Amino acid sequence: MTHTGLAAITAGVSAVAVVMAAAAAAEPPISAERIREDVRVLASDEFEGRGPGEPGDRRTVEYLSRAFAAAGLEPGGVDGLWTQPVPLVRLDRGPGATLALAVGARTIPLTPGGNATLALRNAGRTEVSRAPLVFGGYGVVDPARGWDAYGGVDLRGKVVVVLANDPDFEAGRDLGFEGRRMVLAGRVGSKFGAAAKAGALGVLVIHEDAAASYPFLQVASGDALPAFVLAPLKPSSLQLSGWLRHDVAGELLTTAGLELETLKRRARDPAFRAFAIPDATLSASGELVATEVTSHNVIARLRGASRPDEYVLYGAHWDANGRNGPDARGDAVRNGAVDNATGTAEVLEIARAFARGPRPGRTVLFAAWTAEEKGLLGAEHYATNPVYPLARTAAVINLDPHVVLPAARDVELIGGGRTDLELRLAAAAASLGLRVTLEPNPEAGWYFRSDHFPFAARGVPAIAFRAGRDLVEGGTAAGNAIVGPYNAEDYHQTTDEFDPRWTFAGTVQEATVAFELGRSIANDGSWPGWYPGVEYGAVRAASEPERAPAAAK
Ligand SMILES: [Zn+2]
Repeated sequence: MTHTGLAAITAGVSAVAVVMAAAAAAEPPISAERIREDVRVLASDEFEGRGPGEPGDRRTVEYLSRAFAAAGLEPGGVDGLWTQPVPLVRLDRGPGATLALAVGARTIPLTPGGNATLALRNAGRTEVSRAPLVFGGYGVVDPARGWDAYGGVDLRGKVVVVLANDPDFEAGRDLGFEGRRMVLAGRVGSKFGAAAKAGALGVLVIHEDAAASYPFLQVASGDALPAFVLAPLKPSSLQLSGWLRHDVAGELLTTAGLELETLKRRARDPAFRAFAIPDATLSASGELVATEVTSHNVIARLRGASRPDEYVLYGAHWDANGRNGPDARGDAVRNGAVDNATGTAEVLEIARAFARGPRPGRTVLFAAWTAEEKGLLGAEHYATNPVYPLARTAAVINLDPHVVLPAARDVELIGGGRTDLELRLAAAAASLGLRVTLEPNPEAGWYFRSDHFPFAARGVPAIAFRAGRDLVEGGTAAGNAIVGPYNAEDYHQTTDEFDPRWTFAGTVQEATVAFELGRSIANDGSWPGWYPGVEYGAVRAASEPERAPAAAK
């Protein structure tokens, strides 16, 4: 071989290398087609709406485990398996439950699933006869902010009627609860907890679309769903909770000589105290059957090259609302195509992208959580029983998108102003020519409503975002024309089904931003954190020594 020949070959090799590099650079890391296929399968009737403990549970867990294995990942669950068991108790209300309001001699009949909802809290029979009603304002007990709706009020044997959201969401000013944006105390779960602690027998929330952030249809159709709690079920002094449709609540208050808008104004005062609704009572009866069920989180792992004992955790909930219809069309399956086959498919696809690419410095974990729709139970169980130390988990990136959109010019940040992960998100988005916009409905409290929250509450920097609605074609008006009807009609319903017309272009943007964001953290030695004054920062600070370089082995 001559020198010239060698030179020619070398030149040829480098030309091939350049072409290969160009091809690799040109091939996008995230494939719309693979996401489409996973969504199609997970949202098919064969998976029966992926209800925890239902037949679709096992099928989903098997599908995800196989998909992670096929992507070349390691099992990341407990005992060398793909899974982490999550012990649950399923709560089914028996048929024939009754609910009625009375004011003086007048009875206002309620129908669970019709104009009200009813959740029983204890296994077996519950009978409540003419329990006095109390108006509890926003039902907020928050000594740090100087609010205590129940201070000095005896709630034993009584049912509290409360407003949805927090005291200043429609006050037009900040009363210490972040103005229009919802704080945790505004979540119904917080209200139930506060009333239970104050000794109440029951809580009813007055439904208003804006305050609740979803239409009554969502609430009413949820009445047919089984409830779940993490095992074991503990006896509760709070025997029942539920929602009252707006018109029924209005009838109750008017009959009692009260008026909703006046009550709201009174309730926007830190000195507000709960008071009796004159002559008003609630009666209820029903049976609750408790069944122990084990569901599973699915966890896959890609071991880091240089910092294997530091973690970046991607998550999405695999569960939907199961075979718990039927709707008017006779369809019983709440397929959960958008919510959350899409996020689950994105996590699978991001895992494939990581597995194909250069090994990241930190270990990357991919979790598909169970029972998010039942109260973030799978993620909550992991956060209390972490398979990998939370102190050394650098970030949690949660994918729980709410609509499959065409290509957009933005991504929407949920609950902004909390963590410096938001700066990395902006950089990742900018690398794709996208900007970050703030969620348009901060009163909905989305930061507390998905699987990143159990991690944030324990100090782990956690971020959630979704595809933006400022569409390349048609702008925000076109985006809202897709988001609005989905939220009003399909969210959690049997109509959240796979649509073959979806391009998944917005989903690819969402997943690509998530991939780039996670990659930047996985290949960096620094620890993301919380902005000063954010409550989760103090929790994180307590585990600081565990992140010191000496703690690494
Ligand atoms: Zn969801």
